[in-house]
Amino acid sequence: MMIFKVCHACDRIIGEIELDDLTSHDSHPIMDIVGNVAYALCTDCVRDMETEPSNVYH
Ligand SMILES: [Zn+2]
Repeated sequence: MMIFKVCHACDRIIGEIELDDLTSHDSHPIMDIVGNVAYALCTDCVRDMETEPSNVYH
């Protein structure tokens, strides 16, 4: 069964993967699975979080 992998932060579709392959795909850690959508973080959002870990927006 194919499921969509979607970025949890920007809702961009990262790709499609086999549900059976979830555990072997660790480049985008799966945060949550709802129906046939697996929420992860795309590389852009991961980089944003890593480069701006403590920014406070007022
Ligand atoms: Zn993203």
